[in-house]
Amino acid sequence: MSFFKIRSIQSKILSLFLFLLLIVQLVSFFSTFQASKQLETIQLTNRLSNAKDVFETQFSNRSYYLSAFAETAAKDYGLKSVLREDNKSFLVALNNHRKRINSDLAMAIDNDGLVFAQLVTYKTPQGKTKVRIGKGQGAYFGQDRELFAEANTQLVKLNEQLYQLSLAPIKSGSRNIGWIGFGYLIDAELAMELANLTDVNVAFVLGENDDKQLIAADQYERLNKGNIAIESVIANPAGDYVRELVPLGQLAEQGISAVLYKSKADLLASIGVEWLRLALLIALTVALSVVGAIAIARGITLPIKQLVSQVKLISQGNYDQSVEVDGSKELKQLSDEFNQMTDAVVSREQTISFQAFHDPLSHLPNRNSLLKALSKRKHAQQDFLVIQLCYLGAEDITDTLGYQVGDDVINEVAERIVKTNLGLSCFHLGGENFVLLADMQDIAPLVEQLLAELTIRCQYENISLHLQFALGIAISTLHNGGQETELLQKSNVALQHAKKNKKPYQVYDPQFDQNAVERLFLTNSLKQAIEQDELTLFYQPKLRLSDMTISHVEALVRWQHPEKGLIPPDAFISIAEKTGQMDALTRWVTQAAVNQYVSWQQKGLDINIAINISAANIMDKSYPDFVIDLKQAHQLSDNAITLEVTEEAVVEDAEQATAILCYLREHGFKLSIDDYGTGYSSLAQLKQLPVHELKIDRSFVQHLSTDESDKIIVRSTLELAHNMGLSVVAEGIEDETALLWLKAQNCQLAQGYFISKPLPADVFEQWIDNTPYQISRTKN
Ligand code: C2E
Ligand code: CA
Ligand code: CA
Repeated sequence: MSFFKIRSIQSKILSLFLFLLLIVQLVSFFSTFQASKQLETIQLTNRLSNAKDVFETQFSNRSYYLSAFAETAAKDYGLKSVLREDNKSFLVALNNHRKRINSDLAMAIDNDGLVFAQLVTYKTPQGKTKVRIGKGQGAYFGQDRELFAEANTQLVKLNEQLYQLSLAPIKSGSRNIGWIGFGYLIDAELAMELANLTDVNVAFVLGENDDKQLIAADQYERLNKGNIAIESVIANPAGDYVRELVPLGQLAEQGISAVLYKSKADLLASIGVEWLRLALLIALTVALSVVGAIAIARGITLPIKQLVSQVKLISQGNYDQSVEVDGSKELKQLSDEFNQMTDAVVSREQTISFQAFHDPLSHLPNRNSLLKALSKRKHAQQDFLVIQLCYLGAEDITDTLGYQVGDDVINEVAERIVKTNLGLSCFHLGGENFVLLADMQDIAPLVEQLLAELTIRCQYENISLHLQFALGIAISTLHNGGQETELLQKSNVALQHAKKNKKPYQVYDPQFDQNAVERLFLTNSLKQAIEQDELTLFYQPKLRLSDMTISHVEALVRWQHPEKGLIPPDAFISIAEKTGQMDALTRWVTQAAVNQYVSWQQKGLDINIAINISAANIMDKSYPDFVIDLKQAHQLSDNAITLEVTEEAVVEDAEQATAILCYLREHGFKLSIDDYGTGYSSLAQLKQLPVHELKIDRSFVQHLSTDESDKIIVRSTLELAHNMGLSVVAEGIEDETALLWLKAQNCQLAQGYFISKPLPADVFEQWIDNTPYQISRTKN
């Protein structure tokens, strides 16, 4: 039902009120209707019986009046004196009497029944009442005179007219000498007069029951003209009329009566007015009730609406407002609950927003706060410095001393930064990374002061830590681009630069980004380069110093980029390492080197090829198995391939590296420790490794002819290596002095620009043909 589908409480209450109202109104209307129907009947009856009373009183009054007057007139001496002597004088006297009661008839009868005087009234066309001699004068009175013995009033028909007549005997002494009488006409005029008095219609009829004959009626004319036979009105009391019959007397054995009647419609017309008033009253009540219902419905729903609108405000984040309703106890309770809920939401939101803008460990403002602060400064058009700061060796601290100490150090550093009194706003990006915002100033003194305050020893579990810091700085006036994050990114680039170059701080230089962009570009296209053979190998010869023979080469990869030209390995090897592409790259290099080896073997060249491998290649057996399979597939001799691995790569996971290196050594590969001298491992440590060869880093060799300390390092390295049964390669030989010195020190192999730069395979083959050195060739 649609009634129950009405959604709002207000309309529900309103509908319910209206529904109840309608029922109440219907019931009251119905009972009023019933009551008024009864009242109507009673009213009709009362009206009619009142009319009857009035009518009867009037009619009997007239009778009494007539008879009393007739008796008085009969005793009038003057009248008696002219009786029978002078008819004219008698008529005048009689008329004088008639006039006194304004009767319609005056007459005198002698003892024989002869009417010797009769005066009747008539109406002139102008409506005036005049008197004349009646037609019955001179004739005998046709009625039974005995009826008048007691001088009472009777109804008589004279001259075709009906009269109410009273006769009184005229006496001379005790002798009856005649009668004198007066009468009133029973006609339409009388009916009219009585109708006016009784306020009902009046008709005079002759006869009983159904056989009634109309004598006169107050509205005889109108009824006839309206084609309503008065007979039917008189005969049918149950119809549209109510009526009452008043018997008046007898005439020639027939009863004469008055019919008092009234049309029900006439009565109802007046009651109709009552109905209209009632309808108006109902309408007014309904209207008032509707207004009342609306007010009540509003009164109930207003607090709810208040609640709703206030809750809406709260849902929009407007928490200052507490919910207040002026309503019932329950609604007040509800609003209290709302307020408590809002408080809970506010406190939770505060916690959340604190968490959103602060570092969970140090409680310092975090990156989100920093971005806000940056945009604020930017809008205020302030010049400022963005200083990214980190302390070094955070990972080592956690690895060796555990996470708790790691966190303690972070908090310690955070605290120190906050305590510095240099007007810096401090933000914690997580871990060992912090950002400081400073107003524009000279950078060098600021950094000096800052580092002086931060660089303090701290003590953890009996271990004294000497924290070192690196700073990257961007300047808003110089390095600010479109976005807030740009300064941040630039200071970070500067920081990475500082870390890489082991400098305490670095101010951003656009040059850094150039490299970064390049790197990004290379990162994205390296995978494709490996797959599509964009790589190529250059070969750098190694000279066996004992017989000055070219017996080895080192394969060095380059990227032959279709647009950028030849890209050196330093530009992409570290990318391959960081992006997990080292396996693919080394496999490509190995395959190409083996192919080259086989090709040279076929050309009669017996040259060992050295392949550089990375830490990633000795993490598991995947690459070793690949190169072993390759060696077996081509049935390469044990002298064919040297694998160069950096000292750093081995140190990362010495145990695993040792196992893999043993595995490779067992399968007939020569193993060489590359870049020896750049790491921190001692020769004693390297002794554990299953390698054949040490490759002294070029930084010790390049300046050998001039640098005495390099000579000491190289000479002692050679001695120790030889004692340990390792052969030695010196790389980076750039002049003959160095070459000859190394030969004199019994260094096995020499490699460097002085001998040859790395060359493409075909160029290398031409080089061989022209070199003064001997070339190692296959036996047959
Ligand atoms: P590395 O293994 O130490 O290679 C020797 C580098 O020293 C080569 O640089 C070579 O051109 C350079 N060099 C040789 N003689 C001299 C000299 O007399 N003076 C000077 N100043 N430099 C000399 P390159 O080819 O640019 O390679 C750089 C590094 O890239 C290599 O250092 C190596 O670590 C890496 N690399 C090159 N190819 C590969 C590869 O196929 N695999 C892996 N994992 N690393 C490779
Ligand atoms: Ca190498
Ligand atoms: Ca090297």
